[in-house]
Amino acid sequence: MNRLLSLSKVPVLTGFWRHYSVPTTKMFIDGEFVESKAKSWIELHNPANNELVTRVPKCTEAEMNAAVDSCQTAFESWRKTTVLTRQSLMFELQRLIKRDMKKLAENITLEQGKTLADAHGDVMRGLQVVEHCCSITSLQLGETMPGIAKDMDTHTYRVPLGVTAGITPFNFPAMIPLWMFPLSLVCGNTMLLKPSERDPGACMLLMGLLQEAGFPNGVVNVIHGAQEAVTFICDNPQIRAISFVGSDRAGQYIYERGSKSGKRVQCNMGAKNHGVILPDANKAQTIQSLVGAAFGAAGQRCMALSTAILVGEARNWLPEIVARAKELRVGPGTEPGADLGPVISPEAKARILSLVESGISEGADCVLDGRGLVVKGYEKGNFVGPPFSLSMECYREEIFGPVLLCLEADTLEDAIQLINSNPYGNGTAIFTNSGAAARKFTEEIDVGQVGVNVPIPVPLPMFSFTGSRGSFRGDQNFYGKHGVHFYTQLKTVTQLWRSEDAVTSASATAMPL
Ligand code: NAD
Repeated sequence: MNRLLSLSKVPVLTGFWRHYSVPTTKMFIDGEFVESKAKSWIELHNPANNELVTRVPKCTEAEMNAAVDSCQTAFESWRKTTVLTRQSLMFELQRLIKRDMKKLAENITLEQGKTLADAHGDVMRGLQVVEHCCSITSLQLGETMPGIAKDMDTHTYRVPLGVTAGITPFNFPAMIPLWMFPLSLVCGNTMLLKPSERDPGACMLLMGLLQEAGFPNGVVNVIHGAQEAVTFICDNPQIRAISFVGSDRAGQYIYERGSKSGKRVQCNMGAKNHGVILPDANKAQTIQSLVGAAFGAAGQRCMALSTAILVGEARNWLPEIVARAKELRVGPGTEPGADLGPVISPEAKARILSLVESGISEGADCVLDGRGLVVKGYEKGNFVGPPFSLSMECYREEIFGPVLLCLEADTLEDAIQLINSNPYGNGTAIFTNSGAAARKFTEEIDVGQVGVNVPIPVPLPMFSFTGSRGSFRGDQNFYGKHGVHFYTQLKTVTQLWRSEDAVTSASATAMPL
C-alpha cells in the first residue's frame, strides 16, 4: 500500500499593496547600488503573511549591458591580481559573512519564509564554500613536466575564463549565490549574477559585504528579472560560462541556449529523492531523520527526502512516522520553535495542493493531511484515504513542498530498481544496520549523492555537489575541485631554453619523433 503524508501552510493575506511606499531592490553595478529605470516590476511578498516587502525590477537591456561591460572591464585588471591578493580578500569576505550571519538569516526568513535556524544553515553552508575558496593557492595549482624533449619543459596553468554568470533559485537565497561568485572570483574571473526574483535580498546583502571586504568595483554585478534576463545571459557574447541552479524547465532551456552560443554551462536541476528504510535500521533515529529531511524547509530543498520506501517489515513503522510528523510545529519562520515555515507563494501552495489532490483522486491513502492548516493557530488535520498507485502524478512530479510519499517494497532489490527507474539522480539514502546491504545499495544505486544513515548527503565543499542523471546537465559539478575546473581553462606552455653553443644548424621540417 502506498501512502502520502502532507503538511502545508495557508498564507494569510493581510494589508494593502502600498506599491510606492515600499522599498525597491537595487541593482549592483560597478560597485554601486543603483535604482533601476525598469518599466516592469515584480512584487515580493513575505511568505508568512503575504505583505509586500519590496519590488524587484525587470532590468532594462541597457542596464544589463552596462552590468556585463562592467564585468568585462573589471576582468582585465582582476585577472592580473596575485593569487594571494584574491585569497586575502576571500578571508575578509569570510569574516564579514560570519559577522552578519544574523542579518542575512533574518532577510532570508523575511523573503523566503524558512525558519531562522534553517536560514542560518543556508548562510553557513554558503560560508563553507567561501572558506574552501581561501585555499585557492593549492586548488588552482597547475602541473609541470620538465625534460619532455631536450632542453624543453611543459607547464599547465589553470587560467580564468573571463566573464561568468550565475542564475540562482529561490530556495537557498544565500547558499547558492555563494556556491558561485566566490569560486569564480577567486579563480580570477568576474561574475554577473541574476538572483531569484522571488528573494534577491540575501544576495544584495552579500554584495554589500563584498564591497566592504575591498573587492574592486565590477568584479560582481547583479541584475534582476525573470526569463528575459536569463535569455540575455544565454545570448550575450561576452559571457563565457553560466552556472545555473533551479527547476528542470529553466535548466534545460539555459543548458541548450547557453551551449548553443558557445558557453560552458553547468545546471543543477530538479529532484525526487528516495529514502530506503530497511527493517534492521535504528528505528528511532531513522524516523527522526526521515521526518526532518522530508519536512524541513517545508520540503523546498532539492535534497529533501520526499519519498520513503519502507522495505518488508519496515512498512509497519508508518504510524510512528505519522506520529512524529504530527509533532512538527508549522508557523512563521520568525517564531522560536517553528520546525517549518510557509512555502514560497500562494501559487506554490496551490500547485502542491493540486498534486496532493491528484494523488488522492488516483487512490492515495492520505494519512496525515495538512491541507486545511491555518497558519495563525498552526492547527493540523488528519485524513485517511484509499491507497494510490505508482503511476500517479505526485510521484512522477517534484512536489517541492511539505509532502512525504510513503511507498512499500518487498525487498532491497525492488527499492533499488524503483529508484534507478526514476529520471532524477540528485540524492538518496538508505537506513540500515547491515554493512552488506549498505554496500550493495551504494554500489548498485544510480544516484549522484548517496547517504548511509545520512538523510541529506550534501557533500562539504572539499568535495563537489554531484547530483546526476536528470538532476544535472553539464560536465563539471558545483564547488570543490570540479568547481575550480568549471571556472578555469587549461593553458599549456611548452618552453625551449637552449644555450647558444647547443643551437642546431638545420631547420626541422619533419614532425619530431
Ligand atoms: P526556477 O527554475 O523557477 O528559478 C531559478 C532561476 O531560473 C530564477 O533565477 C528564475 O528567474 C529563472 N527562471 C525561472 N523560470 C525560467 C524559465 N522558464 N526560463 C528561464 N529562466 C527561468 O527554480 P525555483 O523554483 O526558484 O527553485 C526550485 C527548483 O530548483 C526545484 O526544482 C529544485 O529542485 C531546484 N534546485 C536544485 C538544486 C540542485 O542543486 N539540484 C538546488 C536548489 C534548487
